[in-house]
Amino acid sequence: MIDKKRFFKAAMVAGSVLLSTQAMAETQETYQSWLNNFKVAAAKSGISAKTLEATLTGLEPNQRVLELDRRQPEFSLTFWKYINNSISEKRIKRGRDLLKKHAKLFEQVHKKYGVQPRFLVAFWGLETNFGDYTGVFPLIQSLTTLAHDERRREFFTKQLMTALEIMDDGHIPYDVKASWAGAMGYCQFMPTTYKAYAVDGDGDGKRDMWQSLPDVFHSAANFLSQSGWQPGETWGREVKIPKGFNLDLAGLGIKKNLADWAKLGVVKVDGKALPVADMKASVILPAGYKGPAFLVYENFRTILDWNRSNFYAIAVGHLADRLVWKGPLQTPQIKETPLSRGQALLIQQRLNEKGYDVGKPDGIAGSRTRKGIKAFQKSMGIPADGYPSVELLELLK
Ligand code: CA
Repeated sequence: MIDKKRFFKAAMVAGSVLLSTQAMAETQETYQSWLNNFKVAAAKSGISAKTLEATLTGLEPNQRVLELDRRQPEFSLTFWKYINNSISEKRIKRGRDLLKKHAKLFEQVHKKYGVQPRFLVAFWGLETNFGDYTGVFPLIQSLTTLAHDERRREFFTKQLMTALEIMDDGHIPYDVKASWAGAMGYCQFMPTTYKAYAVDGDGDGKRDMWQSLPDVFHSAANFLSQSGWQPGETWGREVKIPKGFNLDLAGLGIKKNLADWAKLGVVKVDGKALPVADMKASVILPAGYKGPAFLVYENFRTILDWNRSNFYAIAVGHLADRLVWKGPLQTPQIKETPLSRGQALLIQQRLNEKGYDVGKPDGIAGSRTRKGIKAFQKSMGIPADGYPSVELLELLK
């Protein structure tokens, strides 16, 4: 789902927050007056009376959307759980079939935008299981609900206004359905992404993200191309880092030439030398130093423009590899106990108590928390990968 940088998508076991009847009644009242004000603003900004009448009449806030927006994951998703959920044999097989079936279209798109077909199919598979799940929530109802809600009013008001503009131009029907957060079609574009990057691939004058595969893939490739996709380069690769590797060099903040990484002892996961190419790359350790290591290139960063999650970007890259018959990840999978939200909070609390200022505990391992963990690990003389785990919590006790 493009443009969901602000959404935290690690929900596994989702605890939902039920709104009380009274809160619901209050929400409805303020929603109606908010909606009236919004209508005036939308008319002023040029949305036609016809579109406003057709989309904003008789609307009520969608409580389910608010519940989904407020859910807090009870457990963090471990790397392997995420990868195994995202990349099944079934999905790989279906992706390979689709790659073959639509080869001609993919080749045209590849030629025009420089994005290799395997990546387009990987996004398609991960976003909606190849179009199976494009969302069942009426778009305008969700967007008005979220735009009225105070949590991300500015962001969703913009999405709502843009959705109405797109409808006004006749590209999508008034009653279109999307994800609860307003992501649309086979590749889950948010309205602003649609407006900026969607392309009419089949030349029928419309940009249809549901029915027209040419529109979908031209649009996805257009987004990637304009976000800096490097034609002819891949996303990255699984590598091995040597014993004693300086863990401060891991992370997207550090870019080095492949030759420099080779000098530092980084090799392909099968032990062979890294390719010789003039490319900058970063080493990332998404599951800490005990997990797999990846050397990631510029296109990995472009995948992060689609969805700002390292797990997601690795899943896209790895699924793309599997579609062209590359093998599974080589690092042995370890059974890791997922960190509960309470435990994550406790880690942050303990770090603060020990003088590593990681800010107000929120249960999310952001860069400040990781920095604090690293400093603590260094003080203990253990590998400082900044990775939060149950083991780490034990050490902090
Ligand atoms: Ca079209």
